[in-house]
Amino acid sequence: MVEERSPKPIHCKAAVCRAAGEPLTIEDIVVDPPKAYEIRIRVICSSLCHTDVTFWKAKVAPVFPRILGHEAYGVVESVGENVEGFAAGDTVVPTFLGQCDHCGSCTSEHSNVCDSVPFIIGPGMRRDGTTRFWDAQGNPLHDLLAVSSFSEYTVVDVNQVVKLDPAVPPKLACLLSCGAGTGVGAAWRSAKVEPGSAVAVFGLGSVGLAVVQGAKMCGASKIIGVDLNPDKEEVGRSFGVTDFVNPSQLGNRSVIEVIVEMTGGGVDYSFECIGVPSVMTDAFRCTKMGKGKTIMLGLGRDSDEVCLPSLELLFGRCVMGSLFGGIKPKTDIPILAKKCMDKELQLDALVTHELGLQEINTAFDLLLQGKCLRCIIWMDKDK
Ligand code: NAD
Ligand code: ZN
Repeated sequence: MVEERSPKPIHCKAAVCRAAGEPLTIEDIVVDPPKAYEIRIRVICSSLCHTDVTFWKAKVAPVFPRILGHEAYGVVESVGENVEGFAAGDTVVPTFLGQCDHCGSCTSEHSNVCDSVPFIIGPGMRRDGTTRFWDAQGNPLHDLLAVSSFSEYTVVDVNQVVKLDPAVPPKLACLLSCGAGTGVGAAWRSAKVEPGSAVAVFGLGSVGLAVVQGAKMCGASKIIGVDLNPDKEEVGRSFGVTDFVNPSQLGNRSVIEVIVEMTGGGVDYSFECIGVPSVMTDAFRCTKMGKGKTIMLGLGRDSDEVCLPSLELLFGRCVMGSLFGGIKPKTDIPILAKKCMDKELQLDALVTHELGLQEINTAFDLLLQGKCLRCIIWMDKDK
């Protein structure tokens, strides 16, 4: 049994991103012990989300060298001072968004963005701005979203750790800790999709397909999937898409015209799950006058601006951004895990590939080529 308040640094392997867009290198690193309000986690598996790719390409908050990865499942190795409710051996997921349960946001049903340990997009632990990672030469390594799960061990704030029943399968827990939780949550918590609604989902990656499942769970009757990759039609239908639109195969008609026509006036809910400003405009413009609601989930560049025609916006339509699909991680991830285990949600097919940490660059290639949904990266697969 590992000492719970182990004061010692841990030497382990991690995939380090040394420069924008370059292959990650597997390195020996040192992970500090957890400070107060922190938990050190032995990562069992992590998966690659498009958000990792966006940071890898340095489109947002570019700092290197850094350890990417923010979708993961693991076991508590040790806890720092003032950590309550967690002990070595607990099965957990780290999350990029925290939940303190006490602040104005956490106690409100209208927000999932905790104010007590604020979410920041840049590097550094959220309470003191410092890092817990060092390379073999003793130089600091930056984190990603204060999670950094492409490492055998990581340190995460107690606000950002969700305890899960050990019966929850590791791969499922991993998916729910970002992409799948975001997608299902966007339909369930952010949009609050109503039974019988018409929905459009732009981008059928894991986030979009999880939106599809969330919309289906909420009783949507028409779910239009939109993607440039023709292979996404079949996979989309297997998740619950009822109609598929490929914007590159519409001749001189626009995706907006086509969706407005298919729905007799526009969709009730539209979700952008890509991160492209022009697609965000399309997602808004295909919603129904008077009530349509657009949920923006895609992460673009820092400087991206979205164009929303002002007159069209006046027609009672609503646009909202959504972090983590509006879910409160500690409250909602266990609920979503149960819904999956009860087969109310079918997310297993999001896992299309499984690799070891040493092969992590292949996971990037597969996602960039549109050949995978989620690739699970097992920390001990190579041993
Ligand atoms: P992904 O790469 O697996 O999927 C993106 C899909 O969009 C692909 O199927 C691709 O073919 C399609 N696509 C790309 N450009 C397109 C276009 N112009 N028109 C139509 N389809 C297009 O990505 P993912 O992991 O599902 O993530 C999706 C987005 O969600 C990313 O921007 C990611 O950063 C973001 N994200 C946001 C949150 C949040 O909290 N808001 C959480 C997780 C991920
Ligand atoms: Zn809070």
